[in-house]
Amino acid sequence: MARRDCRACDGTGWKPVEAGGVRCVVRCECQVSERSDQLLRQARIPRRYAQCEFENFDVRKDQATGDANPSLAAARFYAQKFVDEYPTDFGLLFIGPTGAGKTHLAVAVLRELILRRGIEGLFYDFRDLLKEIQDSYNPVSQVSEFRVLQPVIDVEVLLLDELASTSPTEWVKETLHHIINSRYNQKKTTLITTTLPPPRELSDHDRPRTPSGEEIPEVERSLNQFGITLSSRLFEMCKIIEMRSDDYRKAIKQKGIRFKPDCTVNEA
Ligand SMILES: [Zn+2]
Repeated sequence: MARRDCRACDGTGWKPVEAGGVRCVVRCECQVSERSDQLLRQARIPRRYAQCEFENFDVRKDQATGDANPSLAAARFYAQKFVDEYPTDFGLLFIGPTGAGKTHLAVAVLRELILRRGIEGLFYDFRDLLKEIQDSYNPVSQVSEFRVLQPVIDVEVLLLDELASTSPTEWVKETLHHIINSRYNQKKTTLITTTLPPPRELSDHDRPRTPSGEEIPEVERSLNQFGITLSSRLFEMCKIIEMRSDDYRKAIKQKGIRFKPDCTVNEA
């Protein structure tokens, strides 16, 4: 829909241009921006992430050296490259500790694809999605499971946020499997964020190993919780972006909590 008060196109959505002596009409920017606005609304990005962009992603520069955290700088680089190269035949899976900025980068990718490319996208928190599906089983529910799942499966770019579950049930595994497999078969792009469990101090003997004796990396162990089949599918369809950093949110919160300057530790 064009903006009715647009001067460039008189509200028609098409503006006249002249190129090489030939007069023709092109789609007016007011139409493009209205479509982006509409796509952005449909994407259901939560308000707290609405301003997430590549430019305001914090690469946590070291105060002493001024160097960016290499893992976070690399993550941003790959995320931007993904947008530049889109359409790609793979998605992105951001994995790292809580507070590393995984959702920030994933939302930045989604927003760029919507705003710059006019692509349809959808944000879903994994637990919210499961809850909506479960609620649809309620006999008084106005929404069917199909109505909840269909857009999640069909949308061109899906952002599945916080893919995690402590000891997922068979139902959770099956549901996730259905979503991921359907999207894979339709060659749709999926962006995923998932939290890496805090490193466990395992003795050499306890470390999980493949039958041939190789140690299974932490990332893979984390994804294996949803089953080996799903885990290997994710490895096949997504570029894994590992993000390592200190817990950002905790650090920010801690910064605001201070003792009075004259407070000294009583060493007696
Ligand atoms: Zn216009």
